[in-house]
Amino acid sequence: MRIGVLALQGAFAEHIAMLERCGAEAFEIRQKKDLDRNFDGIVIPGGESTVMGKLLNELDLSEKITSLIRQGMPVLGTCAGLIVLANEIVGGEAPHIGTMNIAAKRNAYGRQLGSFNAEGEFKGIGVIPMTFIRAPYIERVGEGAEALASVDGKIVAARQDNQLVTAFHPELTGDLRVHEYFLSMIK
Ligand code: GLN
Repeated sequence: MRIGVLALQGAFAEHIAMLERCGAEAFEIRQKKDLDRNFDGIVIPGGESTVMGKLLNELDLSEKITSLIRQGMPVLGTCAGLIVLANEIVGGEAPHIGTMNIAAKRNAYGRQLGSFNAEGEFKGIGVIPMTFIRAPYIERVGEGAEALASVDGKIVAARQDNQLVTAFHPELTGDLRVHEYFLSMIK
């Protein structure tokens, strides 16, 4: 199994390390020609969604990635990656890739609680550790999308068919189960 990890900025190296620990092959997507390789899934990491969205357009990656996802390629979006995939960003900012029917609220935990660790039940996995860094939460899951985890009444993970998103950073906890879950979505 080979996974392309969007490596424009943010926490991509940690995802590559986790995927390799799960026994998958991983490579960096930095430019358009990287998308010509054969691969089975995409990871959109945490970072800064406005910067990532801008780079996706400047490097002409958006269209191809959007069409791969629409054709059913499994994608994991974490933190900023969740925001990049959301078809609505609360507050009216324009969506980026926007393939997933969720509303993402950015920097949703306020200044004091900008970064924290929690534990929560993740449907289909069990209780897992969750690291939040200036994280969004999902204010609404729309038709076709299902909430998979909540912390303090806020939705922090969801799935819509081939798309999986988490508001937290599963690549930073050392717990492989979210990545294993993602790899299990690849048939
Ligand atoms: N605050 C960032 C954003 O709004 C997300 C933070 C993260 O990915 N750790 O894009």
